[in-house]
Amino acid sequence: MLLQSQASQLTELLGLPEAKVEDMTIIDGVGVFFVVRSTRRDAECPRCGKRSRHLHTNNGYDIEDLPWNDQSVVLRVNRRQFWCEGCGEVFSEELVFVNKRRLYTKRLANQIVGQVLGSSIRSVAARTGMSEEQIETMLKDAGEAYLLETPEGLKYLGIDEIAVVKGQGKYYGVLVNLETHQPITLLPSRSPPPATAVTPPSRPRYRYSITI
Ligand SMILES: [Zn+2]
Repeated sequence: MLLQSQASQLTELLGLPEAKVEDMTIIDGVGVFFVVRSTRRDAECPRCGKRSRHLHTNNGYDIEDLPWNDQSVVLRVNRRQFWCEGCGEVFSEELVFVNKRRLYTKRLANQIVGQVLGSSIRSVAARTGMSEEQIETMLKDAGEAYLLETPEGLKYLGIDEIAVVKGQGKYYGVLVNLETHQPITLLPSRSPPPATAVTPPSRPRYRYSITI
């Protein structure tokens, strides 16, 4: 077990909101494993909105985080279930650093999405070990989160294309905030662009941009 001071330093180093490191193990050739606990003692019931401290079940999950120096980082997280005294239902808590039903942190997803915008889904999948389906889900999540959080901050809108495989096959259209380079939403996949279309090799490579 870590000393209290070591745990505090690692918590600071990891820098995740509402999360506290309780233990850490390094397994050679495999990665760094953190045991992480939420700093919140209660959670809000998604059905009735009442906050509850009545622990029902502890559920351990392994959540992938940003790699450190090419080492995989896994957070062993307890995503607790609480019993709600308002409506009598049992619910799982939300962790601010992970999207619902996902096994990777929001910041890992953001980093992957950033890489895909300058590359293709397949090459990022090969580089990171993520599946293409996981990356497509990350793109959709990023778009939905952006629409929910800051639609009014949008000034410059770009339309870009993400290739599943660069130069061939299926393409996704993606609306991008040109100031932050964050995707806003993923458009349905479509056929490859005509052979005459030119994609400059590096960013910015937005095909169109609109000032709002
Ligand atoms: Zn409730």
